[in-house]
Amino acid sequence: MTRRKKIYEGKAKILYEGPEPGTLIQYFKDDATAFNAQKKAVLEGKGVINNRISEFVMTRLNSIGVQNHFIRRLSLREQLIKEVEIIPLEVICRNIAAGSLSTRLGLPEGQPLPRSIIEFCYKDDKLGDPLVTEEHITAFNWASTQEIDDILAMTLRINDFLTGMFGAVGITLVDFKIEYGRIYDGEFSRVILADEISPDSCRLWDTVTNEKLDKDRFRRDLGNVIESYTEVARRLGIMKEMPRVIDGGVA
Ligand code: UDP
Repeated sequence: MTRRKKIYEGKAKILYEGPEPGTLIQYFKDDATAFNAQKKAVLEGKGVINNRISEFVMTRLNSIGVQNHFIRRLSLREQLIKEVEIIPLEVICRNIAAGSLSTRLGLPEGQPLPRSIIEFCYKDDKLGDPLVTEEHITAFNWASTQEIDDILAMTLRINDFLTGMFGAVGITLVDFKIEYGRIYDGEFSRVILADEISPDSCRLWDTVTNEKLDKDRFRRDLGNVIESYTEVARRLGIMKEMPRVIDGGVA
């Protein structure tokens, strides 16, 4: 066996060269980080669950016409994806006040927002992913006005779909972070959804109890992180292989 060429290693995922040009393999690690990697842990089985949840969400989004980088799952922790040129923005969409928005604007956590709000942060760990406006994005050429319009429209569509999908299984979608990338077709480029959608990148609250079923369990030391991620997978109906994860019996 030859070792795959590592293209990039992030905090929760590794990207390897794919089997054919224009593809990559996305590997989901068990590593968890928060507060710009000041807090770190290994949560056994997290990578397996996030791989499955992200596969499920990306496949569903593709079926409603939201183009994304997911091609197919390869193994418990790996998926084949389209190689994209990542746009250096974290796109955050919020329905209910929480986290940094609550802190910044003094809004009680859990307060419904008058309408869904989209925010952009510049992806730069050294700077702590600062909030930026469309002015910064176009001035520094991170994305064009047309691309920003496409990103806004796609993000609202994703929010509507995910709100319904999670709502149907008793989960409130409080907020989420997504990333986009460009794929080129000759001289034209198109923006598609990339990265992952999982309890690492969303705030998901039980609709009845408001119990947190997402990464805030890790950030805020609430315990039962893996159990909560597993509960999200179970409710979405993708539980089959999950008991092995809790046993710790996965490679
Ligand atoms: N988020 C993320 N990665 C980040 C920052 C935020 O996935 O680097 C997600 C986070 O899980 C939440 C949403 O984006 O679902 C909004 O996060 P917020 O800005 O409130 O930041 P935090 O409170 O996590 O600092």
